[in-house]
Amino acid sequence: MVTIVPQWSGSVAICARHGLPVTFRTEVWFRSRPPVLLCVAVFVVVIAAGLPVVVPAARYLDDPDPELYLLLLFGGLFAGWLVHNVMLRQVSAPAWGFCDVCPALRSRLVGTAVTCFLLTVCSCALYVPFVLPEQVGGDELSPFQAIVRWAVAVAPGVFAIVGAVLLAFARWSVLAGGVAGKDGTVVLRRPVLEFVRAIAELGRAAEKA
Ligand SMILES: [Zn+2]
Repeated sequence: MVTIVPQWSGSVAICARHGLPVTFRTEVWFRSRPPVLLCVAVFVVVIAAGLPVVVPAARYLDDPDPELYLLLLFGGLFAGWLVHNVMLRQVSAPAWGFCDVCPALRSRLVGTAVTCFLLTVCSCALYVPFVLPEQVGGDELSPFQAIVRWAVAVAPGVFAIVGAVLLAFARWSVLAGGVAGKDGTVVLRRPVLEFVRAIAELGRAAEKA
């Protein structure tokens, strides 16, 4: 991990992630990482409310249906998202440089995320033939039919979550591989050596000036 002053990146002609020549620049807002305690709390919510949604045997409340657990899961995730946004620190890099690989990667991520959201809608439509008949008191399900019903019931949630995660990875700041550090700095996770050297040189030049 390397801590840098983001303003200096405007004078570096190498992509921090790929080490290739910079082909375009844009303003990037780096965001601080959520606190560890918040991550632990969200993890506990996902296990405690998410597991019973997909595994009927793990339902501990006096309710055989998954709806209440789903409500707890989304309520918990929403609360976590709110707390994260309240505690968020953002640092701007006015002219961060990207190589040709970065926007191509971003397009692929966004394209796959859009496909996931379309699949979310399509798999919701499957509720009518596969999930609803049992809700209105259809015939007894064979084990295979029960598995199909379970897969159809869980699919929209899975597609929506995968789509949201892909969109998060498509952010410019994530493509650049950085998060907001303290005092307006940016912490880069795995920058290429050439980028770090160029930034260090700018730092030395700024100290001399
Ligand atoms: Zn790049």
